Amino acid sequence: MHDHAYDKAQSRLVRDAVRAYRALLTSVTEGMPRHLVEEAACRFDPDLHAGPDVFTDEPADAKAAREQVAREVCAECPVWASCLFYALDTRPATGVWAGLTSEEIATLAGGHGASTPTPREAA
Ligand code: SF4
Repeated sequence: MHDHAYDKAQSRLVRDAVRAYRALLTSVTEGMPRHLVEEAACRFDPDLHAGPDVFTDEPADAKAAREQVAREVCAECPVWASCLFYALDTRPATGVWAGLTSEEIATLAGGHGASTPTPREAA
C-alpha cells in the first residue's frame, strides 16, 4: 500500500533540509568572492568550518577535533591562497579559514579582534 501522506511529509522534509542547507551555505560564504564560493572545498560541509550555531554548546575537545578536520580539508582546497588573502583582509570573527582559526588569522594580520561580523551573525 502506498501512503501518500507519508510521501508528502517526506518530500516536505527533504525540501526543508535543502532550504536549510542553502541558507547555511549562504551564511558561511556571504561576501566571499564568487570563485571562492564555487571552488571552495568547504562548500560540501560548511558546518565543519563554521562550527555550530551560537545556541549549541561545543566542548573544547570537540571544537579542536572539528577544527583539525577543517584544516585538513583546507590543505587540499584549490582556492586556499585566495581564501587566505580574503581572510587576512576581512578577519572573520569565527571559523576556520585557509587552515587557520579566526584567532590565528588576527595574529597573522597583526590586528586585534575581528573587523567583520561572523557569517552567522551576518545571517
Ligand atoms: S581554504 Fe578552507 S576555508 Fe578556505 S575556501 Fe578552502 S576549504 Fe574553505
